[in-house]
Amino acid sequence: MISFNIPPYTGNELKYIQQAIEGHKICGDGPFTRQCSTWLEQKFRADKVLLTTSGTTALDMAALLSRLNPGDEVILPSFTFSSTATAFVLAGAKLVFVDIRPDTMNMDETLIEQAITDRTKVVVPMHYAGVSCEMDTIMDIARKHSLLVVEDAAQGVMSTYKGKALGTIGDFGCYSFHETKNYSMGEGGALLINSPEYVERAEILREKGTNRSKFFRGQVDKYTWVDVGDSYLPSELNAAYLWAQLEMADEINRNRLASWNRYYTALKPLQEKGLLELPVVPEGCAHNAHMFYLKLKDLSERTDFIRHMKEHDIWCVFHYVPLHSAPAGLRYGRFCGEDRYTTKESDRLVRLPMYYNLSEQYLSRVIDCIFAFFGR
Ligand SMILES: *Cc1c(COP(=O)(O)O)cnc(C)c1O
Repeated sequence: MISFNIPPYTGNELKYIQQAIEGHKICGDGPFTRQCSTWLEQKFRADKVLLTTSGTTALDMAALLSRLNPGDEVILPSFTFSSTATAFVLAGAKLVFVDIRPDTMNMDETLIEQAITDRTKVVVPMHYAGVSCEMDTIMDIARKHSLLVVEDAAQGVMSTYKGKALGTIGDFGCYSFHETKNYSMGEGGALLINSPEYVERAEILREKGTNRSKFFRGQVDKYTWVDVGDSYLPSELNAAYLWAQLEMADEINRNRLASWNRYYTALKPLQEKGLLELPVVPEGCAHNAHMFYLKLKDLSERTDFIRHMKEHDIWCVFHYVPLHSAPAGLRYGRFCGEDRYTTKESDRLVRLPMYYNLSEQYLSRVIDCIFAFFGR
């Protein structure tokens, strides 16, 4: 059976987890957490990186730091994972969904301005498949209207836009280290803070509303409860697993890109015959091969395709049910403008198996099986 995903494993994970245990430090913010966050700050030239318990809680922190009031509005795509939305709903905001661009499946930057009202506070671009949104335009619009930008870069670790790492362009960036992402710690994530004025409150929110981080740095002589907060620190055991991935990040990235390019080159003739569409990576965007997807004719052809692959023991999956048409989306949000692409494009998208160390044998089996589908 060819799985859709296998969590990344590089070989040093157990050794580092054992080190954490033997060092008698398995709660959060120990040496592995420090090593991981420093690595992320240096590699991506980020001002401040805090590891979190998930990509979702990184988004939760960004939403809390945005200081939203009930009735404030947040602009986001409908074609995204629920976490992009729930963070802002929990913070009391109303969701305003805009359509996507059919080429990258990212939020259409030309539709943002018409969705802005006097209640709009935040724009949330989600970098689908690790391919960047059109960030220059989005940042210009946000600055012009004094809006914050929270990048949902859950899929975009190691991707860049015009040379800048995704997650470091907006006010906040949110990474995920879930087992389905390129670099993993089982469950985990990181918040990137790109404006220094938010760092102190972020540390407090993350430490149950206390100024404990300041205390550990010797900046205050006792720590106490100063604000609302939650527990957003991942365990050192998870950070130890992540460290084994980060020290191999370039190798993992190279390996995934090779698989991505193998699919792309092999399937190009099918695109030239008009049988399917392949992903588009715009000029200026370097992606991380988070995902390889195809677009078929329509929902019915996609259903047949997934069944065909499954009959040959290959697991392909689709996503997302557009948020604006999901039960909670109907309750908490509205779609601004026309749904020209969100529903239509999501209905025909399918993801192929993609993970670190996907073998050439499996890649060619998947490719052959796709050719067989169209050869019928
Ligand atoms: C994976 C993902 C998340 C959530 O990350 P978790 O670590 O699973 O909480 C959020 N947004 C997008 C776009 C994702 O792909």
